[in-house]
Amino acid sequence: MSLHIREQVSLKPFNTFGIDVKARWFVEVDSDEQVRQALAWVREHQVVLLPIGGGSNLLLTGDLNALVMRMASRGVQVLSDDGQQVVVEAQAGEPWHPFVLQTLAMGLAGLENLSLIPGTVGAAPMQNIGAYGVEIKDVFAGLTAMDRQSGELRDFSLADCGFGYRDSLFKREPGRWLILRVRFTLIRAVQLHLDYGPVRQRLAEQGISAPTPSDVSAAICSIRREKLPDPAELGNAGSFFKNPVVPAAVAEQIKADHADLVGYPQADGQVKLAAGWLIERAGWKGFREGDAGVHRLQSLVLVNYGSATGQQLQALAARIQADIFARFGVHLEMEPNLY
Ligand code: FAD
Ligand code: NAP
Repeated sequence: MSLHIREQVSLKPFNTFGIDVKARWFVEVDSDEQVRQALAWVREHQVVLLPIGGGSNLLLTGDLNALVMRMASRGVQVLSDDGQQVVVEAQAGEPWHPFVLQTLAMGLAGLENLSLIPGTVGAAPMQNIGAYGVEIKDVFAGLTAMDRQSGELRDFSLADCGFGYRDSLFKREPGRWLILRVRFTLIRAVQLHLDYGPVRQRLAEQGISAPTPSDVSAAICSIRREKLPDPAELGNAGSFFKNPVVPAAVAEQIKADHADLVGYPQADGQVKLAAGWLIERAGWKGFREGDAGVHRLQSLVLVNYGSATGQQLQALAARIQADIFARFGVHLEMEPNLY
């Protein structure tokens, strides 16, 4: 199929902040061949290429003089099954949460803690998505990506991807790789991660003493629905800042003034601080200026009440960063990708 490239397309439906900027050119691609054609088109027209999936980790600050390429390839396939471990491959354009539910329906455990994360399979490795104590690196079997320069395909192993906390080689080398499909090693045995946040408690409240992976998924969905704004109702991109990881001495210093500081010791001796706690303590929870604001229940989430621009949200984020640095001496790093 040849490409259907449209011009001057509003990206409002294609980013969960609901920011109304235009793409000079826009195309949806659903095969390797179409991705190759798009690469040839941008080369021929000397245009910048911006791949997107569900647009749930983007902050768009102006019209884009680029070809925005929405990854729309679909398909889920079992590659191997030894009775215990099953390797499943999903195409980049598969919506993430329905894919998680599909694996659970196949009787496979591993992705349940990552339920209800918006976006696509292809973007999941970008920041090594994580929630409730699990990251995709924990179940990652490999991926296939296309080199944007040469058009060649390359298979990446776990070690190749350089996964870190909300980080990967692909995030560190933007513009180099197009992720086409991702593979996961899932298991038939039940090996649950329940010791994170209120998961165990929610299951107990529901009277579930021997949970299945599907029970864990449902419990996490119910917790998330209570705490997080639904982008369909209120524009947002999830957590706007990463949780800062600081030397233990810095955490101790803050604790001297704030005994209730929320921090989690890391294996390397550093401490991960809850960015949401810092922002809330600084008084930003529920703050609103025009249509840009900080969510009233979850201060790590910036929201668009309707017609906020990306620049207004960026300016609000900069004010919060400056204030947190002034109060606590801690730099908050933005999580969404800025364009
Ligand atoms: P996009 O926003 O479309 O793209 C993100 C980046 O990846 C961009 O730089 C884009 O250029 C690039 N990209 C996209 N697809 C490809 C591809 N196939 N190849 C190469 N580059 C690509 N994140 C978490 O980690 N944990 C959470 O619990 C979580 N909860 C969230 C809750 C809410 C309500 C929201 C709105 C967001 C949340 N997020 C969370 C953030 C976001 O959902 C994830 O980062 C998700 O993986 C982004 O997927 P996407 O398809 O929307 O990516
Ligand atoms: P929460 O349960 O209120 O916890 C606040 C923060 O403390 C979280 O950010 C989490 O860090 C950390 N934390 C909690 N329990 C921990 C433990 N046992 N060990 C280590 N760290 C712990 O968080 P929440 O905002 O409701 O989010 C719940 C989960 O969903 C978190 O994992 C969060 O990352 C994820 N989430 C991510 C996004 C996103 O856009 N990135 C959006 C919504 C939710 P971590 O963030 O490092 O896990």
